[in-house]
Amino acid sequence: MKETTVNGLPVADTLTMDIPKQYDPKQAEQDHYERWEKQGYFAPEINRDLNAPVFSIVIPPPNVTGSLHMGHALQHTMMDVLARYKRMCGYRTLWLPGMDHAGISTQLMVTRELKKEGLTRHDLGREKFVERVWKWKKESGGQITKQLRREGASVDWSRERFTMDDHLSQAVREVFVRLYEEGMIYRGNRIVNWCPNDQTVLSDLEVQKDPQAGKLYYLRYPEKNSDRSLTVATTRPETMLGDTAVAVNPNDDRYRDLVGTTLMLPLADREIPVVADEFVDPEFGTGAVKVTPAHDPNDYEMGVRHNLAQIVVIDPQARMTEAAGAEFAGLDRYKARAKVVERFEELGLLEKVVDYEFSISKCERCKTVIEPLISTQWFLRMDELRDGAVMLLETQKKPQFVPEVPYEKIYANWLENLRDWTISRQLWWGHQIPAWYTPDGEIIVARSEEEARKKAGTTELTQDPDVLDTWFSAALWPFSTMGWPETTPDLETFYPTSVLVTARDIIFLWVSRMVMMGMKFMGDRPFDDVFVTGTILDKHGQRMSKTKMNGVDPLEVFDKYGVDATRLTLASVGTTDTRWNEKQVESYRNFANKIWNAARFCLLNSEGATVDPESLKAAGSEIALHDRWILSRLNQTAGDVRAALAGYQFHESVQTLYHFFWDDFCDWYIELTKSDVTAESASPVRDQARTRLLTVLEQALRLLHPFMPYITEELWQQLPGAHGPLLHQAYSGADPTIMLAAYPEPVAELIDEQAEAGMQALIDLISRVRNIRSEMNIKPGEPVSVMIGAPEEKLRAVFSANANQISRLVRASEVSISETLDAPRASARAVLVGGAEVAVPLEGLIDFAQERQRLGKEKEKLSIEASKLVAQLANPQFAERAPAEKVDEVRARIADIAQRTAQLDQTIENLQ
Ligand SMILES: [Zn+2]
Repeated sequence: MKETTVNGLPVADTLTMDIPKQYDPKQAEQDHYERWEKQGYFAPEINRDLNAPVFSIVIPPPNVTGSLHMGHALQHTMMDVLARYKRMCGYRTLWLPGMDHAGISTQLMVTRELKKEGLTRHDLGREKFVERVWKWKKESGGQITKQLRREGASVDWSRERFTMDDHLSQAVREVFVRLYEEGMIYRGNRIVNWCPNDQTVLSDLEVQKDPQAGKLYYLRYPEKNSDRSLTVATTRPETMLGDTAVAVNPNDDRYRDLVGTTLMLPLADREIPVVADEFVDPEFGTGAVKVTPAHDPNDYEMGVRHNLAQIVVIDPQARMTEAAGAEFAGLDRYKARAKVVERFEELGLLEKVVDYEFSISKCERCKTVIEPLISTQWFLRMDELRDGAVMLLETQKKPQFVPEVPYEKIYANWLENLRDWTISRQLWWGHQIPAWYTPDGEIIVARSEEEARKKAGTTELTQDPDVLDTWFSAALWPFSTMGWPETTPDLETFYPTSVLVTARDIIFLWVSRMVMMGMKFMGDRPFDDVFVTGTILDKHGQRMSKTKMNGVDPLEVFDKYGVDATRLTLASVGTTDTRWNEKQVESYRNFANKIWNAARFCLLNSEGATVDPESLKAAGSEIALHDRWILSRLNQTAGDVRAALAGYQFHESVQTLYHFFWDDFCDWYIELTKSDVTAESASPVRDQARTRLLTVLEQALRLLHPFMPYITEELWQQLPGAHGPLLHQAYSGADPTIMLAAYPEPVAELIDEQAEAGMQALIDLISRVRNIRSEMNIKPGEPVSVMIGAPEEKLRAVFSANANQISRLVRASEVSISETLDAPRASARAVLVGGAEVAVPLEGLIDFAQERQRLGKEKEKLSIEASKLVAQLANPQFAERAPAEKVDEVRARIADIAQRTAQLDQTIENLQ
């Protein structure tokens, strides 16, 4: 990306406007957001068109546990771009904000805080603890809303929600009761993932599997009344104390005669059977596996199939129980492991121990190793819910994932393999399960304690102490936030929502569950599209995380480069994982400065002119090429950006806008229109040129607004002319703001391919001559003569019509155009598009001998560089170890040098 040329633009003598030389993002950010919010621009009610199309997004509620990170800023930027864009297109737009109570994370945070005061949550008791969390939530939540405002998020604050709001809690209870009454929610004894540290059950999705270098222990179990024995292999010897069988595959010939016999379980002296089960993999270990139904999910299933006892030998603190035997009771699971192994060795029953790599399950939050335990929990059957989601995908292809590959398939496969969802959590912070127990153990599920009492016919009820998994309430978010179970106008208007913008890691945890619950309770999809964003990695390509301390704080970046520049960087990420690169933000900050300087030039030269969209329509073939061209580019850009946004191509939209504003508008159009615009005396020609320039600028600002809300509003407000008529008609009468201005639509008649081709030729010519000037070291003030040979008549016409522009932009004393080029030998030449050619005679401009010497030196330098690079490539160590992109870089540089050298040879030859 190029460097900005600050204030490189001449300015008329009379200042008609007072606009600061430097853009101050902070001031603009503060002023405008406050005003937008106060004026109610973020609320859908600002739209007065009763027939307006609707666009709605619910924010993925950030956890109330902390501050927003880059991932949030990324998603919020994309959502805000969409919301602002649709709003400007006249949609009744709602972007609903809110936060999630984040059960386990929040409880952990507050527990940690208490620990500093030397307290545990049990010291406070449930009620006081929950009070404390609410207090903490107030502070932490305030932090998040402040940050959202800072990001420029155009969310409707009047509809802000929290998953533990009364109304949302009511929705949670309603869903629970209905699912219970339909038999989909049940309470049962199951093997679950237990975190011994957090003392709660976790869903499969809250468990992370890490590779672990461990050991595989081969334990020998003697057969009863025999001198034979059977060897089992296990990574967890301590669980053998809870074994109730050994299993082999029924087709395994090695063990066929052992099936049905009885083994003596060492240390426990318990008799256990040998059973045959298809589940056993004959290839693993010895082909015989110990079965511990109370402490392993697969063994649990096997235990059910073979009617085996469940002996609990490990307790919720991960210590051995009494059932493990007096020798082991009370020991930590790892101490018990060492002791079991030691005892087997003493007894001569330890066959061997081998190194073994396996995957270990850890608590996603605290990284404690999960203990599978049998426990009484609440579960949700997923069959019917799953069917609803599958049907939606198969019949309506909803939600539409962007990108479709791979996410649709991942989502569909996951739905196929759903197990019942463990929805209870042993926490205090969250939605307490609406189930009460009578003194004789009957379960009453009700919407309130009052209703439970009525149902039970007694007041002696105890509520289930557990709370619901945080994702249970999150699954209802798209409709609970809009007033469900009541049929509210918001639900009728804004549900289903238009799109969900989210990270890929919560497609299962959240996206799929919203779809299932939406289908079940609303009878309709919660959103049409799911846009899955890329991830921002640190500069080494690592995921940013709190524990690695490698995160970049978006607030610091805002402070340093401004919100608009940061938003452009974030929007550019699109769906691709991207390493964070501050240089990129810096270049977009330069872009913001470029916009500012260009607008400043327009404003300082705006006397006698006004923003007037009608003036563009009137333009016909009588206006200059560059004018027709910029109108064509503007309208083409509007069409391209609209098309890109319709397909959620954020990266492409940013590139299109950047190229249009920087290259087309600033580098070329302002240069080409400058002589008219800065003419000393007022004239209709000057006024028209100024009006056109301002009007194109105004539309460019509108195109940029969804991405760069602040600088565009700041400049737009200063443009001369009436702003009211620029608003989209759905907002007519509102106080003018670029937020509510109509997003430019491409006008087909103004797209002019001929003008684009002509300008392309002109740009090509001017760039080539400028190149020649710099390559040949021609002094900037020295006029040159430009000779053009163009066989095509059309092209010649373009060049002659713009001969003055050419002279001005390349400092030519003379521009000659003919069908064939007839230039002196000592000329610098370049080939142009359309078979044309340009030459700049060098005689008298430069000292040939001196120049040949200079170019010779450059050649020599390049040749030295090239041989170094070639040697580097030939070095096998470099080829093996250097990253692929580094190797490519070296190759590309060698090719560049070769090309440049050929050029130099040609030039030196011409200078003989
Ligand atoms: Zn944990």
